[in-house]
Amino acid sequence: GSAEILQQLRDKLSPQGDVVSPRGRALTEEVFGAPLTPIEVVGRICQEVQSGGTKALLKFNRQLDKADLTADQLRVPAADLAAAHAAADPELIESIRRIRDNVATFQKAILHRDVTIQPQPGVTLTQRYVPLRRVGVCVPGGAAAYPSTVLMTVVPAQVAGVAEIAVVAPPTPFGAYNQDMLATCHELGVTEVYRMGGAQAVAALAYGTDTVPAVNKIVGPGNLFVALAKKHVYGTVDIDSFAGPSEVIVIADGTARPDFIAADLLAQAEHSPGSAILITWDESLIDAVSNEVAKQLASLERSELTLDSLEAFGALILVRDEAQACELTDSFAPEHLHIETANPRDQIANIKNSGAAFLGHHTPVALGDYAAGPSHVLPTGGTCTWAAGLSSNSFLRSGSVTEFDEAAMKQIAPDVERLAEKEGLTAHARSVSIRK
Ligand code: NAD
Repeated sequence: GSAEILQQLRDKLSPQGDVVSPRGRALTEEVFGAPLTPIEVVGRICQEVQSGGTKALLKFNRQLDKADLTADQLRVPAADLAAAHAAADPELIESIRRIRDNVATFQKAILHRDVTIQPQPGVTLTQRYVPLRRVGVCVPGGAAAYPSTVLMTVVPAQVAGVAEIAVVAPPTPFGAYNQDMLATCHELGVTEVYRMGGAQAVAALAYGTDTVPAVNKIVGPGNLFVALAKKHVYGTVDIDSFAGPSEVIVIADGTARPDFIAADLLAQAEHSPGSAILITWDESLIDAVSNEVAKQLASLERSELTLDSLEAFGALILVRDEAQACELTDSFAPEHLHIETANPRDQIANIKNSGAAFLGHHTPVALGDYAAGPSHVLPTGGTCTWAAGLSSNSFLRSGSVTEFDEAAMKQIAPDVERLAEKEGLTAHARSVSIRK
């Protein structure tokens, strides 16, 4: 039945609750001297950074990322950004420029524009959009380097017109010491990059310290600690979404190639952790994909990490038919959905909940991860039933502007006065009647 399969699927989600790897648990014990849950860990880190500022930040850099930095080493010097750019592979810079153009083209096209209507003479109503002044961008750097995340966050922010962008990345070789990530920042004109990651970076951006001015909104993906920290500081600042460990559901029929599907599942699992789930109603695909996964896994650079991830968060699911595949997928609400069938538009029409959907045999999710145009920062953990992926619109806030002339005010006045009096708010009523 669908309900049982759905429960099994949810169990295959990367850790969103109180589960972390044995390595993560050991680190928690070492740093906090107790087996705290990730939520407790994040609460402690955020409180300490809020009260202790830079000192607490430096302590967590040391304890959690083994980086012994001083306060003036927190910000990456402009010279380091320029040097990383100068030393970068010229072809990488060319790719970054092309991708920036792709992302900017799409993000400009979807950007909200002010809407003004005149529902009757003398009345002008406007919904206007203004960019946020200052935003913080989390670029992951624990288990892999993500220059692509710089593109997928910074370019939409720039399209929206954000004046100040602060990038944070853990002080690791995958993070703030990753030369390709720094080169990407420089190419995009980002000058504020900080060597700090995890919950401590999120807290610093939210509350501000003497080394990092506070922001209005924090965006970007991360591991469980980053995602929980964003939830913790929401209200002090805005956040984008719960963009946690990656997931994909692949829906496939008999027209799909097992080697393609295997490659697509492995691509997600290599995030480590990343959930990778195949749903099909073609029984022959189950064994064929399973064999292909084993074959391809052997030749992957990150094969060990990927296998761990697959064992914990991978699944090959045989369903009754196409309708059940769509129903299950819609209930699960995956971050990524890849439909590898003869007519993928038929299935996508029946699936409302997914962060980003990829249609057909020639649209691997990696195209969207790296270069197509929509941002790869997407909601995970089932939050796609109500949350949306990052876009240029995430960096705008809207407000209304209302203007009446005297005649139009007099016309609407009786309705206003009646409701105000019913509510007992007679001063409201008088502010209208006094003008009549
Ligand atoms: P990360 O930078 O998000 O996390 C590393 C930080 O976590 C470290 O700096 C450390 O401070 C903190 N940390 C690690 N263990 C801890 C512990 N036990 N206690 C307290 N803090 C701890 O990098 P990552 O680990 O590489 O994770 C990146 C994640 O982002 C991956 O799971 C990937 O799938 C995901 N991702 C998601 C999206 C999306 O849009 N949803 C996009 C790209 C990447």
